[in-house]
This record gives sequence, structure tokens and C-alpha cells, in this order.
Amino acid sequence: MLYHRPRGVNDILPDEVGRWQQAEATFRELCRLYRYEEIRTPMFEETDLFVRAVGKDTDIVGKEMYTFKDRSGRSLTLRAEGTAPTVRAYLENNLQGQDRERLVKLYYIAPIFRYDRPQAGRYRQHHQCGAEAINSAEPEVDAEIIQLSMHFFRKLGIKDVTLLLNSVGCPGCRPDYVKALKSQIAPQFEQLCRECQRRYETNPLRLLDCKNEQCRQIMENAPVLRDMLCPDCAEHFAAVQQTLDTLEIPYTLDPTIVRGLDYYTKTAFEFVAPGIGAKDSIGGGGRYDGLIEQCGGPPTPAVGVGIGLERVLIAQQAATKAQPKAGREAVFVVTLGEEAWVAGLKLTAQLREAGVGAEIDYRKRSIRAQMRTADGDGYRWAVIIGDDEAQQGTITLREMDSGEQETIPRSELVSRLGAEEEEG
Ligand SMILES: [Zn+2]
Ligand SMILES: [Zn+2]
Repeated sequence: MLYHRPRGVNDILPDEVGRWQQAEATFRELCRLYRYEEIRTPMFEETDLFVRAVGKDTDIVGKEMYTFKDRSGRSLTLRAEGTAPTVRAYLENNLQGQDRERLVKLYYIAPIFRYDRPQAGRYRQHHQCGAEAINSAEPEVDAEIIQLSMHFFRKLGIKDVTLLLNSVGCPGCRPDYVKALKSQIAPQFEQLCRECQRRYETNPLRLLDCKNEQCRQIMENAPVLRDMLCPDCAEHFAAVQQTLDTLEIPYTLDPTIVRGLDYYTKTAFEFVAPGIGAKDSIGGGGRYDGLIEQCGGPPTPAVGVGIGLERVLIAQQAATKAQPKAGREAVFVVTLGEEAWVAGLKLTAQLREAGVGAEIDYRKRSIRAQMRTADGDGYRWAVIIGDDEAQQGTITLREMDSGEQETIPRSELVSRLGAEEEEG
């Protein structure tokens, strides 16, 4: 019986993992520069956290969560998105501390689980890097979150990322908009797709981002939310745009950016990159001024972003085409005979202790076969211990690329390669 991975999930194989590590390291480094600190929350949370935070009428809660009962009958859900767990941890661990003024900046790199229709770059376990700026009402912080994201894309070589920007208002002004939207659309209710007919009652803002062609035509006549913002939301949105102008970050106003989650207020944004399917974003986020209070904390404004790593890597591949070939590294220890083998085994251990990658041929094949491995598997050096070397306490060091080789005392090898590895 051969097992298969469950539908909709993916293995990240050794020849791809270098790009993952590079993207993750880039995100970590940028978060360090922008002064965001890492937080790692558990893989699962109480189901109610997501229901309350994301909203029970959203697609995520309605049909995409991996929810299960543990052996005590508690309902738990695999991390369905990154913000709610971060907010839960911020409150539970009192990350705000005594200083009520302090901006709390957190980031995470974590798998997200959604029972979604599998398609390119969209998996049931996918990975996000996200950043959250908690206790920040200032529009300039919305811009900083966007700036951090754009910086990340640029560092990865993804050019032509479009920032789509919108405001979804606040509980003060959104209900009026929703009312206007529904009365405008009511005469064409029957022409809406089934999903939108349901959303019309439960989550009308989502009518705006339906991908169905007929729905999109109907929505072309929809009123525009950013024209109906209350003075506070309008002022905030203007200041976000002004800050983006100052930072020379271009953007496109797009009234269909509403995000699939209930907790967004004011700023909402998405990033679209070439190479990904049409209208498919590589990340997005927005402001969630009500969420922390909704999760049981004091009123605390916040803004954040989540970036899909799978999609970022697809966009990166499309943008940069040629893959940089990995340089040769590490040592392959080639031995002949029992005495040489023992010396080689010790040497391999010493090299690893000294921070030099090393491998030895456990199958003790012929010298020719071992040299083929040293060359074919991309080793930078071969260290050869044959009969002569074993008896004289020496080794022959061969640089694989140049083919240059010399015989040196065994005792000198570790310090010699350790120094070279640091230079290289
Ligand atoms: Zn408002
Ligand atoms: Zn629709």
C-alpha cells in the first residue's frame, strides 16, 4: 500500500526549500529593520476564537475551517488565519504591558489551514508571513505595513506589484452604505449567483468581490463605499494615501477590495503580481480597529498584513526566471581501507564540529565511485585518505572545481578549511 498526501496539500522538497528559506529569511530581516518582533502561536485554537473574530457568515468560518473535537470534547480549529491568534496571544500574555501608548509590532511565519478548492498556489495548508501593528490608530502605520510588504516583494525580485487600496469604513458609516448597496441591487437580485443571493442577506459587502461575470456587471452600478465614508474614516483614508505618496508607493483605488473577513475597518488592501492568475492576490490586509475589543480586550486599534508564501514564490519564479545555481560547498571524505576509514570517520566529525559541512561514504565503495559522488553531488572539496595517507598521517585535499590538489598533514585540515569556509 502506497500512501498519498491528502488532497490539497503539498510537499516542499529539498530542491525547492532553498527558495523558501531565502524568502523567510528576507521577511525576518525586514521585520528586524522595521522593528517587528516574532510571535509563534499554536497550530490550533479554540474554534470560537475564529468564529468571533472572522465572523460566522464568512466563507472561512462557514465552509473552510478544519474543526475537530479533541478527546475531551473541546472544539478546536487549525489556524485558519493569522491575525486572530496573534490578537488572542497579545491579550492573554498582556504584551501591551504598562505603557498604554506603546505600539506593539509583531510578525509571524506560519502555516494556515483552509478547506479550499485546490488550485495553483492555493493549498489546504499554505504558509503566510504576516505583520501586525497593535495599538496604532495612526494612518501612517497603515502605510508602514504596506511599505514593509512592498519592500519584501522588491527584495525577492518581484517587480510590478500593484497595490489595490480601499476603505471599508467603520461600524458608524458602513451600515448606511450596506443599506444603499442592497436597495440598489434589489431589482437585480434574481440575476445574482446563488452565493451572492446568500451574501445579500448575510455579508452584503462580499457582493463587491464576487468573481462571477454576471455579478460583476451588476456590481458596476453599485454605490462606492469610499464616497460614503464618515468624516473620521474619510480623513484617515486621505492620510493613508498622502503617506503612501510621501513614501512614493503607487496605488490604485479599487472599491471591490473588501477582504473576506468581518473584522476589517477603514483601510483594506491587496497586492497583485503578474504571473499569478488574474485578480489573484499575493497578500493583503487592513485595519481592524474593533477586533481586539471583540476578543475581550480594551478598545485597541490595529492594522496588519498577511502574505501568501506559495504565491509569492510563484510570482518570484515568474519575475526572475533563471534560478541561481547553488555553489559548491562542504567536504566529501574519500577513504580506502580500514585504517583510512577510521581516520576519515574522525575527520568528518571534527569538520562538522568546526562548522564545515562534511559527508563520508558509509558504503565504503571504490575510490572512483566516491570521487564521482564528490563531483556529482556538488562538493567543494574532496579529502582523500588512501593507503599512503593513512600510514603517513596526511590527507590529500582536492578542490573539485579547479582539480588542484595537495597533500597536507591531517592535523592541519580542520583549521585550514574552517578558515576557507569563513572567507567563502
Ligand atoms: Zn466611518
Ligand atoms: Zn456572485
